[in-house]
Amino acid sequence: MSSVNWAPLRSIIENNQTFLISSHVRPDADALGSELGIAAILRAFGKECTIVNGTAPPSNLEFLNPDGSILKLGDQIAAADLPDVDVHLIVDTSAWQQLGAMADVIQKAGKLRVVIDHHISSDNLGATEFKDVESAATGELIFEAAEFLGVSFDKVTASALYAAIATDTGWFRFPSTSPSTVRTAAALMELGASPHELFNLLYEQKSLARIHLAGRVLSRMETACDGRLAWVFAKSQDLKETNAVPADTESLVNECLTISGSEAAFIAVQLPSGQIKFSLRCRSPHNVAALAEIFNGGGHKLASGATLPGPLDEALVKVRDEFVKMLNG
Ligand code: AMP
Repeated sequence: MSSVNWAPLRSIIENNQTFLISSHVRPDADALGSELGIAAILRAFGKECTIVNGTAPPSNLEFLNPDGSILKLGDQIAAADLPDVDVHLIVDTSAWQQLGAMADVIQKAGKLRVVIDHHISSDNLGATEFKDVESAATGELIFEAAEFLGVSFDKVTASALYAAIATDTGWFRFPSTSPSTVRTAAALMELGASPHELFNLLYEQKSLARIHLAGRVLSRMETACDGRLAWVFAKSQDLKETNAVPADTESLVNECLTISGSEAAFIAVQLPSGQIKFSLRCRSPHNVAALAEIFNGGGHKLASGATLPGPLDEALVKVRDEFVKMLNG
């Protein structure tokens, strides 16, 4: 159980009719599952809701948008066609930067704002917040909200929420996993979620390009601080030459942490824009959320991210030096 008091959410739902749900750019399974979960809750109360994000789900997560109800701003829906809603409901982020093009829409509309999230890093979004940084996933909070509100989920939504929680906990192995997380997963299975099917959809659909990229990137892994820090990088040329896409770099950073004695890791990915996207990881008691914030990024203590300007070599040195300071500090 989280520390969240859900009573104000009930009042907000009861006192408003139309909701626009959004989450962070490059939405992951927790973003998408949480959006579908809160939409199901709102519809159970007879409310109208539209889900719009700044960027589309990556192709490997398209199965979490089976009826196409999760729209991309400027693609499936133009800013001018967005409904004039009573409430903007944001899930799985509390950072303006993470909302991409939706940040501008939400700021300009000036409507009642609600945030349901489990990230430490937070801007003041001027929202009523339902937040617990101890929760393993936003999907876990959504399930708890549903229980409080007396709403149950169909198989499709239960599966999306299972995917949200399973992916954010590294399939229930990260330290954020609590007995309550596993009980929530069991309840979602009882509603029809199939771990076997979801694991296959999430992790056993790799392209050959992804494997080729992994081989190339992992072969150049470097270490510092006597192996306590390990890192890799992917140049845009690597992606082009292997026919891979930026999402194909996901999880490679975790390989760095499988080295014996490793305490922290990062991957730098050169995006088509020339910017460098860093994914930062560490083991307790280190804190990469604080490290990411040095570069205007954020996230969780053990997993965070930041985007730096290029060139790649300079960005790598800057981030590596901060890691070394953290490990020696
Ligand atoms: P990633 O680097 O994408 O693996 O992100 C790890 C975690 O940090 C995720 O929970 C992200 O939502 C969060 N995160 C990544 N980049 C940022 C950022 N620029 N600001 C705030 N949170 C971030």
